[in-house]
Amino acid sequence: MIGKFFRRSSDKSESAAQGQKTAASKPDAAPSKQSARADTGKEGRSGNDRPRNRRRGGGEGGRDKRKDTRKKAPEKPWSLDEFQVPEQEGKVRFHDLDLPLPLMRAIADLGFEYASPIQGQSLPHTLNGHDMVGKAQTGTGKTAAFLITVIDDLLKHPFEGERYAGEARSLIIAPTRELVMQIADDAKGLCKYTDLEIHTLVGGMDYQKQQTALNERFVDILVATPGRLLDFVSKRDCFLDQAEILVIDEADRMLDMGFIPDVRRIVRQTPRKTHRQTMFFSATFTPEVDDLVEQWTSEPVIVEIEPEHVATDTVTQHVYLVSGDEKYPLLFNIVQQDDVESLIVFANRRDQCRRLHENLVAHGIAAGLLSGEVAQNKRVRTLDDFKTGKSKVLVATDVAGRGIHIDGISHVVNYTLPEEPEDYVHRIGRTGRAGKSGTSISFACEDDAMRLEPIEKLLGNKLKCEVPPEELLVKPPKVHIKRDYGDKGDRGNRGGNRGGGRRSGGGGRPRR
Ligand code: AMP
Repeated sequence: MIGKFFRRSSDKSESAAQGQKTAASKPDAAPSKQSARADTGKEGRSGNDRPRNRRRGGGEGGRDKRKDTRKKAPEKPWSLDEFQVPEQEGKVRFHDLDLPLPLMRAIADLGFEYASPIQGQSLPHTLNGHDMVGKAQTGTGKTAAFLITVIDDLLKHPFEGERYAGEARSLIIAPTRELVMQIADDAKGLCKYTDLEIHTLVGGMDYQKQQTALNERFVDILVATPGRLLDFVSKRDCFLDQAEILVIDEADRMLDMGFIPDVRRIVRQTPRKTHRQTMFFSATFTPEVDDLVEQWTSEPVIVEIEPEHVATDTVTQHVYLVSGDEKYPLLFNIVQQDDVESLIVFANRRDQCRRLHENLVAHGIAAGLLSGEVAQNKRVRTLDDFKTGKSKVLVATDVAGRGIHIDGISHVVNYTLPEEPEDYVHRIGRTGRAGKSGTSISFACEDDAMRLEPIEKLLGNKLKCEVPPEELLVKPPKVHIKRDYGDKGDRGNRGGNRGGGRRSGGGGRPRR
């Protein structure tokens, strides 16, 4: 209960004297989200009472009324004149969406001019309160699509009643810590000129810090992984029954990771679907995902962004045919190329990633490792180092790499081709972001070859396979590499990884 602000109804006069925002209006008098929309002539969703109206008095159920101690962001005058974007046929400008000025200012700072396709197709509906189902990968601008909707709503319908500690006005659930941190970072960028409070609840990081933050600051935007969020909810440190907007990101991944029972419990804590706005995102749609859409959304607008729009537009894709023994020298030499500013290398298994990282570091390359076996604090530092250019290379597994949303990554290397073709699209989507171009290089040895066809099928085009230039296969200097044999049966070979897995010991070059 650290820092929790205990206050009873009789404390109101005291808090008013202290200049705190403790609106004394009867809870039932607060306008509903839907009726507020009706007042402004906006199209609303069905239902006209919002859960906020069911507010209970006096900290019932463990929650405590709180004072508003937020500091307003410094207000420098700014007008839309400073953000001129000409109209363009077929493109949606943020100017056309009637967004609040502080949000427009942040969008201008981020350098977004036109809405990306998913934003252009969804925002006109979601800004009016409609539910949405988005079939979209990362790299499409989906995060800003839902964040702009959330921020617009929170700013246009400020909370008028008394607020309680731990009550979230909006909730975003995502499968991994990295993704949560990234969404929160994006939210901070977009909320720069507002006083909206953003919280993250993720496992593996300081529980008490997260708890203190929940108790000390309002919760406007809560971004969380399912497990940790449930912990907080079950301990009654966090309350979801006032959430006006629910975002479920990467639902397919949450299914794969076995999180759906937890997510179900979470969704049950939020207002029913006709009384909240729900935005639901998934890169793939299976019958199971469709089922969740049916259960959790109400008359959603469906927006589908094809993966090839993500993959091929801004990323030049190479596939190098190699033997297992050639993979590490190839990677080593690619890293030395002049045009390689920053590079993420993906491998399928944690132990492969660990060995690669050890090799690169032993060869004096500033490299970080991002995988499930790395402690969360370290992962955050590793990402920071990569973002700021302190390290040039990041070695990652698919799950850990999901949350990497960094602009300006010049190269992605697939050291092993992924088992799931969708992961290929995710991986190469780490580069070529925000309209910039990027390069992906896939290493295909015999073991990888059979994974090419499903990828090509997903992309809808063939990938040209090349033999790498000789100079890229020159062996790196011999160095002593200190191995951490964390798991059995996976011994690294000095100076060069087999990479191709155990089945054929790395094999020869595949024929194509
Ligand atoms: P996401 O799909 O959410 O991971 O976003 C991909 C990247 O696109 C992020 O780096 C965003 O900052 C960037 N982005 C999002 N919306 C826009 C936009 N309208 N214009 C330019 N870049 C954008």
